[in-house]
Amino acid sequence: MPVSETFDYAVPEDLRPVARVGCRVLVQFHRRKVTGYIVDAVSQTRSRDLKEIIDVLDPEPVFLPKMVPFFQWIADYYVHPIGMVIRSSLPESYVKTAALTEAGTAVLAAGSLFNSDASQILSWIGDHPDAAPPWPLKRLYPLQEKGWIMIETRVRKREISNPHALKFIRPRQNLDLQAVLADRGRSKARNEEAFLAEVFDAGAMLLSEIRLRFQNGAYLVDKWVKKNVLQVECIPVHRNPGGVAAAPPAPPPELHARQKEALKQIRRQLNQDGFSSMLLYGVTGSGKTEVYYQAVKQAVESGRQALLMAPEISLVVYLEALFRSRLGDRVAVYHSGLTQKERQYEWMRMIQGEADLVIGARSALFAPLPRLGLIIVDEEHDAAYVQEAARGKPHYHARDAAVVRARMEKALVILGSGTPSVQSYHNSVTGRYRLIAMPERVENRPLPHVEIVDMKEETDGLGRRQMLSSRLVTALGRHLAERNQAILFLNRRGFHRLYLCRACGRSVSCPNCDVALTFHLREGRLICHYCGFSCGTDIRCTGCGQRRFRACGFGTEKLEQEVRTLFPQARISRIDADAARRKGEAVRILGTFGRHETDILVGTQMIAKGHDFPRVTLVGVISADLSLSFPDFRAGERTFQLLSQVAGRAGRGRWKGEVIIQTYNPEHYAVRSAMAHDYQSFFNKEEGLRKALEYPPFCSLACVRLQGNSKKQTEAAAQRLSLDMQQILKRWPRRGREIQVLGPAEAPIARIKGKVRWQFLVKSRSPALLRHFIAEIRRASAWLRSEGVYLISDMDPYDML
Ligand code: ADP
Ligand code: ZN
Repeated sequence: MPVSETFDYAVPEDLRPVARVGCRVLVQFHRRKVTGYIVDAVSQTRSRDLKEIIDVLDPEPVFLPKMVPFFQWIADYYVHPIGMVIRSSLPESYVKTAALTEAGTAVLAAGSLFNSDASQILSWIGDHPDAAPPWPLKRLYPLQEKGWIMIETRVRKREISNPHALKFIRPRQNLDLQAVLADRGRSKARNEEAFLAEVFDAGAMLLSEIRLRFQNGAYLVDKWVKKNVLQVECIPVHRNPGGVAAAPPAPPPELHARQKEALKQIRRQLNQDGFSSMLLYGVTGSGKTEVYYQAVKQAVESGRQALLMAPEISLVVYLEALFRSRLGDRVAVYHSGLTQKERQYEWMRMIQGEADLVIGARSALFAPLPRLGLIIVDEEHDAAYVQEAARGKPHYHARDAAVVRARMEKALVILGSGTPSVQSYHNSVTGRYRLIAMPERVENRPLPHVEIVDMKEETDGLGRRQMLSSRLVTALGRHLAERNQAILFLNRRGFHRLYLCRACGRSVSCPNCDVALTFHLREGRLICHYCGFSCGTDIRCTGCGQRRFRACGFGTEKLEQEVRTLFPQARISRIDADAARRKGEAVRILGTFGRHETDILVGTQMIAKGHDFPRVTLVGVISADLSLSFPDFRAGERTFQLLSQVAGRAGRGRWKGEVIIQTYNPEHYAVRSAMAHDYQSFFNKEEGLRKALEYPPFCSLACVRLQGNSKKQTEAAAQRLSLDMQQILKRWPRRGREIQVLGPAEAPIARIKGKVRWQFLVKSRSPALLRHFIAEIRRASAWLRSEGVYLISDMDPYDML
């Protein structure tokens, strides 16, 4: 429930041995039964008429008691109900449970249903309150419509089990089928005899097979297990959710001087056994991964556990293969690419202390490690560490929260990047983080040569704009001829970017969102990148009704086609959200490129991140302008990071790299600094701008957004909320002046998925004050709900579109 306090419950005698901090419980809350988390045990309470816990849902805790202050910090800092924070941190699985209503109980007691299916279901539900009925939901809904049962979504009660166990069903020893059948009593299911005969005949059957053969198999198994006729036997099978290790165990290379120096500092901090934070600024290809490995080894040898976070699943998989080949089985992985069961399995391994190292994406922030001593956040600048707020899910920044967690655990945190975020680098300047620099590539390999091509001068004979400059085409031909690989980067997927009406010039846009539709060749359709809406191309202009359109702009799909036409012999693959839609596809595409089974890789920012492809000698950036044109104070920072990271993929092996950046803004400081590999000059310029305009890191920022279905209501609500905000600020005559409210204004994308969006930006030098203000706004805006408008507040927002 979206409540910010915690509540006291009594623990009944029989549940005392199992009710521990970290367990989930079933409790009555007002008129509903809900899932709760035990966050503390107290011997006194001020609440009157204390209710009892109904059930404990975990045989052993699912989170560590020491995590409670951390959950609380996230709840306070990001202004979110703590229950939601805990829920979103756990690998939970949900079930539909059913309970008899009064009407249902009466019908069953009256016996008027005789031996029908309905009575079978009702009596089972009567016998198993709050359990998941073993029938498909579609057979339960009619009973709910009749008012006999109530179906609810609950957290699944967990038994101690290995998710990778095979479950066999077998008859108990020395039982005779005929005797069992004779002794069956009245309530018979239709196929019961056939079912029992089959199990007795086989001697043992897989539960999954029984489920396939008998529609009510789970019910029958449950029934006869309870009657002590059948028994369940679990045979564990060992499986490693990350798949097999892909890399052969190569011996770690001899560290170079800068790596040794970095490691010396890390070792010193680890030995001190207290909190400290470091920024490892190592240019792309400087060998940061090796430093991570040695740091992890050091932490593990001193009896502690380590957490290594990467911004993307494909990077987690890459790091996992490397670390598993050296550290063996005591590595766990955790990210959203795993199945629910795999996540749960890895989670329990961690909480039981069976892993020395956890490698994961953003969600691994909450990994339950009893002896955590080291947290590494690789590619710390990456925006993928930001969890965007969604209904019921808190917004948080996993990198910032990792630093807080390290402080609470008295651990060392290392933030690593070749292009540190402005915020982190600023922290190293002010002394909050210790800076460790590795400014050269390993073995003194040179950084790639970067050239900027001004696209204003690249037109064809008719003055039309070009996608590929002649410089880039020539370079591609040369590098391919030398049997090297190339990466072409374009941060926009699809084929054509826009469809414009030839008559009135209006673009075809999404009916649900305030954005233009993108044409995708493979589907032959226009698709919305925000909500997934799609339509064919045989349409009329919504402005003038004409049917003739002009396609403009390009995306990765068209780029791929164009390169194929230019270089028919080259092996080309593409990686973007479309090409990698299927699970594991991204890893596969990157894998074939890594083995040099393809020559050119075309892709979006998915290729910009930390991968190490030694044979890549040419990187082409098709357009540096896309990220520059974002209406966001981080546009310059993002552009610099993207360009430097993509450029950093070139020349990592023994062959020298070359980078060509195409742009219409050749003079922009972000483009210039990226070309010169000059982080310092970029940072100085950017820091100056942020200071002058009062943006983070020189203030704290929050975004308060209103979303509603109706344009009029949402706008009216925004205006009213604006007055509320002024009221609150007036009540704080002194400190109120330290808060600056910008807006309300329509969000840059005024409508997404049919929701109208208005927003405020709120600034203050004091993050605590800002948080206080946001909490106050949330309290004061309870009236929003009756207006059909929903409020989302983001502390330290990243997505302000
Ligand atoms: P980055 O800093 O960009 O993460 P990596 O850690 O991927 O760089 O290292 C780049 C390449 O250099 C890798 O192929 C890695 O195996 C290699 N490498 C790292 N350290 C050394 C070393 N001391 N001697 C030789 N090669 C090294
Ligand atoms: Zn849309």
